Amino acid sequence: MSELLFCQRCGSGLQQIVPAGDNRPRAVCTSCEFIHYENPKNVVGCLLEWHGKILLCKRAIEPRRGYWTLPAGYMENQETTLEGAAREVREEACAECDDLRLFAVYNLPRISQVYMMFSGRLRDGKAEAGDESLEVRLFSQKDIPWDNLAFPIVTESLTRFFERKQERTREVHYADIFSRPGAPLEIHRHPIG
Ligand code: ZN
Repeated sequence: MSELLFCQRCGSGLQQIVPAGDNRPRAVCTSCEFIHYENPKNVVGCLLEWHGKILLCKRAIEPRRGYWTLPAGYMENQETTLEGAAREVREEACAECDDLRLFAVYNLPRISQVYMMFSGRLRDGKAEAGDESLEVRLFSQKDIPWDNLAFPIVTESLTRFFERKQERTREVHYADIFSRPGAPLEIHRHPIG
C-alpha cells in the first residue's frame, strides 16, 4: 500500500486504483490521473574488518537509535552499489575501505527493500562517528553486542560472516528475511551459484 498522500505532479489527492492494463492497485491522482509507481528500494552496506575486528556504528537516528548497526543506507541515483556502500561508510563512520566484495543479497519483501552487503577492510583502521552515528567501534567476534543490534539483517549478516570465515569460503549469501515486531523472525536461505 502506498504511503503517498498527494500527487507529485499537481498536489491533488490520490486514490488507490488498478490502472487499465495493470494488475495491482497504484496511487493514482484524482485530478491529473498521474500514476505513482512505487518499487523496492536498494540498501547497500559493508562489513569491514580491521585486524580481525568488525566495524559497527551506534545509530544516532530513529528507528532503533542507540542500537548497533553495520554502515548501510539507501543507494543514491547515479551511483553503483559498490560506490554506495563505500559512501555509506564515509558518511556514517568517516572511514575509507578497500577490497570490497559482494557478501550477501537479502530480500526484505515486507518492507520492500533489497540489501546488498559487501565485505572488505578498513583502509587504515581509522573511523569516527558521522552525523548518523553516536559512536563507532571495532568489535572482536566475542564482543559483538548481539542483544543490542539494530535490525535482523545486521544479526544475519554478522552471523553468516563469522560462519563463512570459519568455513573459509567466499560464498555469497542469498536469503529472504521476514521480520515483523512481535512475530517470530523468518529467514529463508537459498543456494546461489
Ligand atoms: Zn495530479
